[in-house]
Amino acid sequence: MAEVYSSLTTSKDPRLMFNGGLRQRAIDTIVVHHNATTNKQVALNTWTLEANNWTSAHYEITDTEIIGAVGENYVAYHAGGTGGADVPKMSDPNGRSIGLEHVNSSGAPSWGVSDATLRNSARLIADICKRYNLPINRNTIKLHREVTSTACPGGLDIDKLIRYANEAANASNVPVAKFKVGNQIVLTKNAWATTYGTRFRDSEHNSWGTVKSVKRYDKSNSHWSYEINFSGVIWNVLEQDLLTRPVQKAGGFKVGQTITLKGSAYKWQTGQVIKDFAKNKQYKIKSVKAVNQSDSNQAVLLEGVVSWALAQDVQ
Ligand SMILES: [Zn+2]
Repeated sequence: MAEVYSSLTTSKDPRLMFNGGLRQRAIDTIVVHHNATTNKQVALNTWTLEANNWTSAHYEITDTEIIGAVGENYVAYHAGGTGGADVPKMSDPNGRSIGLEHVNSSGAPSWGVSDATLRNSARLIADICKRYNLPINRNTIKLHREVTSTACPGGLDIDKLIRYANEAANASNVPVAKFKVGNQIVLTKNAWATTYGTRFRDSEHNSWGTVKSVKRYDKSNSHWSYEINFSGVIWNVLEQDLLTRPVQKAGGFKVGQTITLKGSAYKWQTGQVIKDFAKNKQYKIKSVKAVNQSDSNQAVLLEGVVSWALAQDVQ
């Protein structure tokens, strides 16, 4: 049967690893180990069928790698008692668990595991817990020494690892931020208060501003908060209280109305470049037509020059 690995796996050790055959029961535990060596290759070599050490693990984790060794659907020999007086502290530890091995960043006596390796492992733990529907806590994630009599996993900081795993799980559930720095937004009429709790006044609803910064922030139905510049006043606002500012399309002029062609006008509605002499002059509107072009929903025919101007270019 094909071996099952996390999609986070960076490579698979192709050698046959020691294993106890297909898993017969559900996974409810992750057992955390250290290599007791700073050389990942030395660790991996120990687990091959050829080495015949009766030991293996599902994954080998380094700062940058998650190496698959034994498929998750197979039993690896990582947590069981070695026999004799070494009786495991939980029943069938190998049958119910996934074993994660971590390369050491320092040797004896501290046997450290680097922060980068913990972060990498945390991503894998979050992924495993999601796929097997397991809570990310100390009940699910156990030190090898809590299962059987051993010094493993050395100086590995389990509380940090679990904290990182929860952070990784939360991060993967968070949708991307809706707005970016520089976006123009509108404060919705239902917006209640800033992230600091300052109530919005009614007169402040529907005012528009510019996004100054974006920050991860979990509150109510939001995962992001934004620093918004509302005409010089800065507020911190939850994502749920903001909408993209609708572009107000220009239009609404009437035949017979006198308007001025703006100096900023560049092209006629029909595409020709507007000559300078035509700008900043008054015209009577001869005709109007509906368009959906640039920021205008109307074009106006100007008497005298007999050209169609976009509504955005007249005032
Ligand atoms: Zn161990």
